[in-house]
Amino acid sequence: MAILRSSRLLLAAPLSNCSANLAGYGCKSSSVRIIPRANTVSPVWTYFGLEADGQGKLISKEIAICRLCNSRTSTKGGSTSNLFSHLKNHHPKDDAYLKSASSKPAKSSHQSSSSSQPTLVSVVDKLKPYNRDGKKWQDLTDSVTFCLCKDMLPIYTVEKPGFQRMLKSFDSQYQLPSRKYFSETAIPKLYNQEKERVVAELSLIKNSAATTDMWSSETGQPFLSYTVHFIDNEWKLRTHCLQALYLPVDHTASNIADALLSTLENWSLNSSYQVRKS
Ligand SMILES: [Zn+2]
Repeated sequence: MAILRSSRLLLAAPLSNCSANLAGYGCKSSSVRIIPRANTVSPVWTYFGLEADGQGKLISKEIAICRLCNSRTSTKGGSTSNLFSHLKNHHPKDDAYLKSASSKPAKSSHQSSSSSQPTLVSVVDKLKPYNRDGKKWQDLTDSVTFCLCKDMLPIYTVEKPGFQRMLKSFDSQYQLPSRKYFSETAIPKLYNQEKERVVAELSLIKNSAATTDMWSSETGQPFLSYTVHFIDNEWKLRTHCLQALYLPVDHTASNIADALLSTLENWSLNSSYQVRKS
């Protein structure tokens, strides 16, 4: 089933009403690029950044953007009071965390600089985004990918502000990759892993039955689906939708036969194994 879902998703999601929905769900805010403010000492800036354009060029030094909720706050003249207020009013847990971490420096005047520094570093460490090469980031991204495929969500879900905010509230160190990353890297990777598993499973069976259907997406795009059914070694009926093939050609017997044969080939299946109705 996972195959059905991921393949349908791959094929149908980019074609569905993405562009119509982009405007409605405020993709503007999701395309905001946030860069760190240079030469700053206040730890509150770990929660904020400045807005940059697509090339990473600073747009304004006077407006800070909250990394937790993407909202804009004035920081005229480098003032941080609005930033502290925003944190206190909108993210009380983070505000409390920042205050407790900042209040830990040793009391001794000798130690003040040396002992406060590690505390600040540890605060920053806990706030900085996970490394994209690290296991934690990969595990979280795999979970998002699985959710998109399993629940057949359109890929643009990752650009929706509510979804992004939910993930931020679960783990503020996680930075969601772009929609393109999901469509071109993460989902194909999951699809290939699943495909490998299903091909291995199918290689063990001797006979299978198949059903096929032609259907259209909401945008009128034609697809040909192909599903195999078989009984496994434990006598359980198993079903896998192997393909939802985009088929923008005339639905003649010859075209449909070609599409079905290419599906069998694609999945290393031999048509002679098919159970036929006599
Ligand atoms: Zn915020």
